[in-house]
Amino acid sequence: MSWSVISTWKMSLEGNRKAGRILESHGTAGDAVLLGVQDVEDNPAFHSVGYSGLPDAGGHVTLDAGYMDGDTLEFGAVGCLEGYRSPAAIARSLIHYPYNNFLVGEGAAAYAENHGFEKRDNLTKDSAERYLRERNLNQTHSSYKGHDTVCFLARDEKGTIVSCTSTSGLYLKEHGRVGDTPLPGCGYYADSTIGAAAATGVGEEIMKGALSRAVVDLMAQGMHVQEAADKALADLKERLGENIRPISLIAMDKDGNTGVSTTLAFPFCVAKEGGDTELYLAEPSETGITSIRKIEDPSELSMD
Ligand code: ASP
Repeated sequence: MSWSVISTWKMSLEGNRKAGRILESHGTAGDAVLLGVQDVEDNPAFHSVGYSGLPDAGGHVTLDAGYMDGDTLEFGAVGCLEGYRSPAAIARSLIHYPYNNFLVGEGAAAYAENHGFEKRDNLTKDSAERYLRERNLNQTHSSYKGHDTVCFLARDEKGTIVSCTSTSGLYLKEHGRVGDTPLPGCGYYADSTIGAAAATGVGEEIMKGALSRAVVDLMAQGMHVQEAADKALADLKERLGENIRPISLIAMDKDGNTGVSTTLAFPFCVAKEGGDTELYLAEPSETGITSIRKIEDPSELSMD
């Protein structure tokens, strides 16, 4: 069986390479997705995830993350977590409990403290300055001005599929807001017998369609991974109408084949057994089938 890994946005390029190296050296999908996500969580150049994430309306950087093991369907998640380095690692640590798999706010922070997770003030000088300049602008409804989730899906050589997500959510969101990113079925889903999916974009729209589970359900009915991604998004668009706010999603079938769908230009990264990480740009097309082209030189793409 062969491995593969897909991840959202150009910001995941280096993380995708790291994940690919783990899988190439016979590592697990779980270790691969976590390392990939953490590469983005730790990079202060990216203002929508982890360190240097953009704050909520009250000036707090609150983080959401989710993790799901497709062999067991076990999941772990944290929402509205402040003051820790890797919400994705904390989410992953929650998967083996019979209850209490999804913790939020102070409860999530207390769990992280009790279990020795690394603390970090994620509000950097850059993020704080931008917040002070822009806090009185109503940007919450201006999509894609300072939000994007890092999502990883990986299949290892044993056939285990895992999904992992992490975000600081919508810029200037209400304090306490939790988006789709930590919600299984919405921001991510994984079932090694079928496949996996994960989403980025306006969480309130993604949650309306329980979008990641919708993609996996279509694959379960026998649909090809690319068709399933396009159909799930088309169904939601039809239901919500033309004013649907931005959404992009990635998907993987049980054999590691990948698909994507999007309402706007959307970069993503893929690595497969025997090859290096490649950067692609997906765009919606008139035909309803997402158009995908390889970006040979990442520096030619200005968006993260
Ligand atoms: N889905 C994230 C949220 O709504 C944000 C994003 O991916 O752009 O919190």
